[in-house]
Amino acid sequence: MSDNPDDGLARLSPTLAAAFLGCSASAAWTLEARRGLREAAEPVDDPQAALVVRKGHEHEAACLAGLRKLYGDSVEIPSGPLMARFGATVDAMDRGVPLIYQAALTAGVWLGYADFLLRVEDACPRWAWSYEPWDAKLARSARPEHLLQIALYGDLLGTVQGRAANQGSLMLGTGELETPYKVEAFPLHEVRYYVRRAARRLEAFAADLPTGLMPEPCGYCSKCDWSAACEARWEEADHLCRVADITKKQTRRLTEVGVSTASMLANLNGVRFAGIAPNTLVRLAQQARLQKQSAETGLGSLEIIPHQPGLGFDKLPLADAGDLFFDFEATRCTRAVSNICAGSFGKRRSTTKKASQFRVILTCASAPSGLMIACRRSMPSPNSWRF
Ligand code: SF4
Repeated sequence: MSDNPDDGLARLSPTLAAAFLGCSASAAWTLEARRGLREAAEPVDDPQAALVVRKGHEHEAACLAGLRKLYGDSVEIPSGPLMARFGATVDAMDRGVPLIYQAALTAGVWLGYADFLLRVEDACPRWAWSYEPWDAKLARSARPEHLLQIALYGDLLGTVQGRAANQGSLMLGTGELETPYKVEAFPLHEVRYYVRRAARRLEAFAADLPTGLMPEPCGYCSKCDWSAACEARWEEADHLCRVADITKKQTRRLTEVGVSTASMLANLNGVRFAGIAPNTLVRLAQQARLQKQSAETGLGSLEIIPHQPGLGFDKLPLADAGDLFFDFEATRCTRAVSNICAGSFGKRRSTTKKASQFRVILTCASAPSGLMIACRRSMPSPNSWRF
């Protein structure tokens, strides 16, 4: 599953390409670290991430066992320097081995380690057979970065067998013990040109890395090795992204008009400018102020929201014997709260019972007090909450 260089060369890989498409700063810093221009990212002690890694290895082992049943024993490429692994992979392909595990592929500045190469009886310029990349993924459904990965492996295979692989497959998780994976095949020509374009962009980016990047939170952060470094930067810069519920668009607009820190936003009073609705600006300033007060005093800050008929606690359903009570008592509850605010809880449960019959009561003993405001604004109406 890994495709990090193991020979000290700062080559490009599918993982790096996924990072680049998610957040260019992440890719830039990773390349700088590989080139010895910055310290490597501090490993974060995250038991949940460690669990996901362990489950990933178990899933890969289950996939290997399943493929061995179908194809017989595989050739496993031993770890070692990249070019030795690549040589062993090409040798196995040359012999027409049906299943190659931990295959190493490289061409030019690129490398990749495919979990599996499977022989298919489809001739290529070099042999009367050819190979397709298969990768084990714990996820239940394919993601764009998975497709990017197998498409890049398919292109790397092209440099060995004389043409790119026609198809690639993902062995996705199912959560079932009996059938722990399901195979989804993808015709790689459908994404090939997009993937190659992205690859050329990454090559140009890697050849001339930008400096002084100030990244903003994005969907890639949860997978990024630099998250601790970014948190520290954002805190030091008092970055607007630290204000709960602020969007990138709002951050950009505020920066354009000179409001570039959370403290500046907290001190806005009665100011208006185009691009952010006045009541939104008031809410953001209130949120920033609450967070700032909490940080300064170390105590939760509270502003009572004026009662508006039909909003807030007016939306509480009547007490019901089927009420559910959730009690999260830690700062880490923030993510759970935001998930519930985003409606995921209500949506999932509403398939079996009417969402209006559910009541979610959250007790966040040490959550940032400002969260209350973010919740009030975005909580789907059938649920209720209390701090
Ligand atoms: S933590 Fe997020 S913002 Fe920071 S480098 Fe990684 S992906 Fe980019």
